[in-house]
Order: sequence, then structure tokens, then C-alpha cells
Amino acid sequence: MPTDEPTPDASPRPGLLLVLSGPSGVGKTTLARRLIERHPGARFSVSATTRPKTPAEREGVDYFFLSDDEFTRRADAGDFLEHAEYAGFRYGTPRAPVDRALAEGRLVILDIDVQGARQVRSARPDALAVFILPPSDEELLRRLRDRRREGEAAIQRRYAQAQREIAAAREAGLYDALIVNNDLDRAVGEIDRLIERRRSGAPA
Ligand code: 5GP
Repeated sequence: MPTDEPTPDASPRPGLLLVLSGPSGVGKTTLARRLIERHPGARFSVSATTRPKTPAEREGVDYFFLSDDEFTRRADAGDFLEHAEYAGFRYGTPRAPVDRALAEGRLVILDIDVQGARQVRSARPDALAVFILPPSDEELLRRLRDRRREGEAAIQRRYAQAQREIAAAREAGLYDALIVNNDLDRAVGEIDRLIERRRSGAPA
């Protein structure tokens, strides 16, 4: 996260941490991109992971790809705001860039799983947490297949994982809102309203 840009507003506004969670294939990346376009100065938090890089991904842009040892070292040093294991790999949010961006009054978007959201909630009770739901189970399965990133067995694993995450998100009561992504513009509009309400000081 470069710091040489001007802060987003002339009048100081407190920063806002937005947690976006939801199963893979639900459109979180697209939503995050759209929100960043609409909020001048907003930042996407680039996570660290031990998962191998796919050919389409870029180091430091999509993730910081770390070895297990390096991840452990950073976790032990307290460098992560939160970290969790997901589908056999470790994922964590680097703390310093988030703190810096919030101090500058920026909107900071985290794309993290339910376990991470729970940790952020307790570390930062003022975070806004939104869980993105697929329009239906059938639609989620169709989107996972359409990505053509993996074979049917892996797709079924992600699908089962998605069902568990959705159940956890509903039970835990840790999200401010659960938003169905059946229409991108509408979903972005709903999240925008939550952001504006929170930034104007009203409870979400
Ligand atoms: P993927 O491997 O498909 O990029 O991500 C798998 C899952 O890990 C997604 O649900 C994503 O939201 C979550 N994830 C990505 N970065 C982090 C992180 O820093 N912390 C946590 N807790 N989850 C993350």
C-alpha cells in the first residue's frame, strides 16, 4: 500500500475496516474491485498465504506468497491482524498496512474467511462485516464450474466448504449484513449504503 497519495478527504474522516466474506465463486473479488473504484483512496488488504501461487496471480498484488516457516515467524511476531487455516493452507492479514491506511482515514477492504472475521470482530469491534451469499446453491455450483479452474472433485470440495461457511456465517451472528449477490450493481449499492451509514456515525 503506497502512502504517497493524498488522503481521501479534505476533512478528516475516521477510517473504516470492511470485512467481506463469502464462499469462493460468489463474486467477492469483483465486488471489492467495484467498491474500491467508488471510494477514492480505498485500499484492498493484500493477505499473506502459504497456498501456492496460480499462474494468473501476482506476488504482492493478489497475495504475498510465503513459506510455512516464514508465515509462522510473522504470526509469532504478531505481524498479522488475524490469521487462519483454510482448506489446508494458512492465510493472514498483514497488520501494519491496515493500521496505516485506517490512520489516514481510508476505507480498507479485507477479503477473509469466517474465522478471520471472528478475530477481526474482537480486535476491532468497529469493523463493518458483510457476508456475500450466492443467489442459490445451484447458482454457486454453476459459478464454481464456470471458472474452469479445477476438476470436478475439487469443485465438489469447494461447494461443501461453501455450505459449511454459509451455515457458520448465519449462526455466528458476527456479520452486520448478509447480502445476496444476484445483481452486482444492487449488491454494491447495498454495501455502499452500509458504508455511508457507518461512516456518518449511525449504527449499521
Ligand atoms: P483462495 O485460496 O481461494 O484465494 O482463498 C480461500 C479463502 O481464504 C477465501 O475464503 C478467502 O476469503 C480467505 N482468505 C484470503 N485471505 C485471507 C486472510 O488473510 N485471512 C483469512 N482468515 N482468510 C483469508
